Amino acid sequence: MDDTSRRGVLQGMGTGMLTALAGRGLAAVPAPAPGRKLGYAIVGLGGYATRQIMPQFRDCDHSRLVALVSGTPGKLTRYAAEYDIPASNLYSYATFDRIRDNPSIDIVYIVLPNSMHAEYSIRAAQAGKHVLCEKPMAVSVAECEAMIAASRKANRKLMIGYRSRFEPYNQLAIQLARGGHVGPTRIITAEHGFNAQPGQWRLDRAMSGGGSLMDIGIYSLNAVRYLSGEEPVSVTAVESTDRRDPRFRTVEDRIDFMLRFPSGIVANCVSSYSSNHNAYRVNGTDGFIAMEPATPYEGQRMMIRKDGVTAPRVLPKPPKTQFVGQLDHLAICVMTDQQPIVAGEEGLADLHVMEAIYRSAREGRAVTLRS
Ligand code: NAD
Repeated sequence: MDDTSRRGVLQGMGTGMLTALAGRGLAAVPAPAPGRKLGYAIVGLGGYATRQIMPQFRDCDHSRLVALVSGTPGKLTRYAAEYDIPASNLYSYATFDRIRDNPSIDIVYIVLPNSMHAEYSIRAAQAGKHVLCEKPMAVSVAECEAMIAASRKANRKLMIGYRSRFEPYNQLAIQLARGGHVGPTRIITAEHGFNAQPGQWRLDRAMSGGGSLMDIGIYSLNAVRYLSGEEPVSVTAVESTDRRDPRFRTVEDRIDFMLRFPSGIVANCVSSYSSNHNAYRVNGTDGFIAMEPATPYEGQRMMIRKDGVTAPRVLPKPPKTQFVGQLDHLAICVMTDQQPIVAGEEGLADLHVMEAIYRSAREGRAVTLRS
């Protein structure tokens, strides 16, 4: 395992595991006080926040849900009752900045439409809070840079919701790919897509910042970056969107992109709002590491071909979900003053490439990226 992946795997683990590894002479990461939990405020009570994130706090070792922010009073009442949150810890978007006066809130988790990520992350940092912001970090490089500047100025942490980095199969794929388990990586393919339903903010560019790439294709991009451990040096992209389809009046449907990396690795990626994909495959000189599905909420499957034999790799069910790992990771980073493995710079790196992907598709040429 190289240093980067060792650090990534270590930081994605719970504290018990960290202590055990430290005992075996591996990198020692300062452990937070046992039982200490930091308070999270959730901003935006939509599908992902209420169905996937909020139920996870009951399994967290270092995080607890203490406050809610929503523009819909009925949602505040309902979820406050469900999660036993006092009225004093309920906020609207108009009263959001008063979180500054609430010491029980340590971390603000932004789960709003993409175009609102930057504003609320910056306001949270200015209120003295650490921030976990959903992907995509924001809708432009400029917004990402403003978010990083605000968190630095406030001396607070900023992390992006790249949950797959806390999921064991993806952690293993990183370790195997970067460690040369199937020989040096030559080609990575990554596909993510679903058939988008009409009538949602995701299909309104003003709210989403873009189509499938901003929402689901970002998983293909982020995966090829974490599997290669490199930053792309050039991108070529082709967009295929039927503009007669009412869903795609302002955003793209399909955008296919090819990335070249400094070591010679090539990545071929699919991003789609009209077909179903969730897979990646790392082809080395001696075999492949394939994941399908690769980045779902649960149920990852891995297949490895090496020495002429193709076989599934099955991991034991982890005691904690990727969502719990993500929430506790930021809490641990705050308590031990560590940089999160998916800090704001990671979200910014994706946005840099995404802007180049859009530019390449628009201008019909390869775009060179800063190496
Ligand atoms: P959603 O539509 O279900 O929820 C969005 C919430 O924002 C709603 O509660 C809505 O009321 C609120 N909102 C506030 N102001 C709004 C406005 N002006 N217009 C529209 N909604 C407004 O969306 P979601 O699926 O929960 O996505 C929220 C964020 O989470 C997005 O950034 C998305 O990319 C991200 N997400 C991440 C994952 C993941 O696996 N990491 C999965 C789903 C969504």
